[in-house]
Amino acid sequence: MPGVEGEIKQEELDALREARRRIALAQVRQYPDAALRLRANRVTEFDASLADLAERMSSLMREANGVGLAATQIGVLRRVFVYQSGEEEPVVALVNPVVVESSEERETAEEGCLSLGAASVVVDVERALAVVVEASSPEGAPLRIEAEGLEARVIQHELDHLDGVLIIDRASPEQRRSALAQLRPQPVLARGNA
Ligand code: ZN
Repeated sequence: MPGVEGEIKQEELDALREARRRIALAQVRQYPDAALRLRANRVTEFDASLADLAERMSSLMREANGVGLAATQIGVLRRVFVYQSGEEEPVVALVNPVVVESSEERETAEEGCLSLGAASVVVDVERALAVVVEASSPEGAPLRIEAEGLEARVIQHELDHLDGVLIIDRASPEQRRSALAQLRPQPVLARGNA
């Protein structure tokens, strides 16, 4: 599936890497886990446990072959997410992120999600092409990020997670229907290698 954006990188993985991806994915809450529908709380304490959380989320995201991961996806209701918008780009951790500007220009593109990862659901999602986000680093330093394209898309996807919103909520009724059919519990043996 070339060209899929959103939260999941698309690339061929060797058997060992694929095994590690599956182990990581097993630590990410999967739809319909209730935590995915909860709104995360503002972070008020910038302590060592927050830095640990961001660190743990960064490595989980990379192991799961993701480009973003929100705390709600591991059952932690704190407004924190991590993302990496390109192989050469650093992993960024944002705490208490708020969109302060959003472009009027919008773009529709395919998105996947690590929490819909076991079923490999992909839907078209319309997002602002560019956003400006204000947040804090895990150490409490103020951050202002001007993002566009994939970076802006990932940021909006992760922000949705902190508000309990999933890509199937933003899909067309037809795509939502087929995604929900795909997400119906399947016997493990029927899942294949996808
Ligand atoms: Zn997601």
